[in-house]
Amino acid sequence: MRRPSSFARRFIAGETVAEAIAAARAVQARGMLISLDLLGESVATLAAADAATREYLQVVDAIIASGIERNISLKLTQLGLDVDKASAVDNLRKILERAAPAGFFVRLDMEQSSYTDVTLEIFETLWGHGCRELGVVLQAELYRSEQDLARVNALGARVRLVKGAYQEPKSVAYAKKSDVDAAYARMLKVLITDGHYGAIATHDPAMITLAQDWARAAGVTPDRFEFQMLYGVRRDLQTMLVSAGYRVRVYIPFGREWFPYFMRRLGERPANVMFVIRAILGDRG
Ligand SMILES: Cc1cc2nc3c(=O)[nH]c(=O)nc-3n(C[C@H](O)[C@H](O)[C@H](O)COP(=O)(O)OP(=O)(O)OC[C@H]3O[C@@H](n4cnc5c(N)ncnc54)[C@H](O)[C@@H]3O)c2cc1C
Repeated sequence: MRRPSSFARRFIAGETVAEAIAAARAVQARGMLISLDLLGESVATLAAADAATREYLQVVDAIIASGIERNISLKLTQLGLDVDKASAVDNLRKILERAAPAGFFVRLDMEQSSYTDVTLEIFETLWGHGCRELGVVLQAELYRSEQDLARVNALGARVRLVKGAYQEPKSVAYAKKSDVDAAYARMLKVLITDGHYGAIATHDPAMITLAQDWARAAGVTPDRFEFQMLYGVRRDLQTMLVSAGYRVRVYIPFGREWFPYFMRRLGERPANVMFVIRAILGDRG
């Protein structure tokens, strides 16, 4: 990761907030929006959760000082959800108290299905307390997500729709990719017609075309939703969409805790594993 040429750098902006801000500036210069994600998840002690929260507060301050767009994504297990729910909520509140008055939007990433209920519950509680600068993520691979989408749309909240990055049991999730894609397409239609500035987070050209067609048919103009893609993935498609007048937000992960995120990206695309193997062999040669 420390070497600029390392393969992990294709997906992760660096280990420091300064590197992430530099990456964000480059993305903004290409006409795109950004969301910064200080990587971290599954912390096992309250001390680690506190440290992650303090670090996030520093990130918020650094973003404010830099002048880049004020938008972050975070995970509740990074703030201590596995250790103590109340502490995780407190930590999230601390971040919101600093970020919200400064005009940030904060997206709660969605983790494994064992966290779906608690994540939505925390989100709905904070929403009920007036936190309007907060959004959630729903994963099309889960059977429950179509109902969850109706529930979040009814609140008037912002949803990021993804296919889902975690291996889930058949009891809760579609196993076949074609079923996940079909669920994504169904949810996409609902997000466009009933959603509130929905985020269509995918690199799948078929889903992107569907979104464009449905939006056009429903008279939903391109300023009422956005596409989102991951840093380092399908930059060609990102650029094409911006040229066609669509909003594209690039999710920019950074930080020392990059390994689990990196492994999920490799797992999604076997070709990426070949890149890593070639890079390692190249290093040896
Ligand atoms: C902005 C954003 C935020 C996300 N947040 C979450 C979240 O909170 N929770 C969650 O579970 N998941 C999240 N994800 C991940 C998501 O669930 C999928 O795992 C991921 O986006 C791959 O699915 P896809 O929709 O791009 O479609 P796929 O059908 O998997 O891929 C379509 C095409 O995209 C390209 N592609 C996809 N993945 C890669 C890759 N790793 N490397 C290179 N090319 C690739 C390939 O060309 C591929 O053919 C997020 C994704 C995005 C874009």
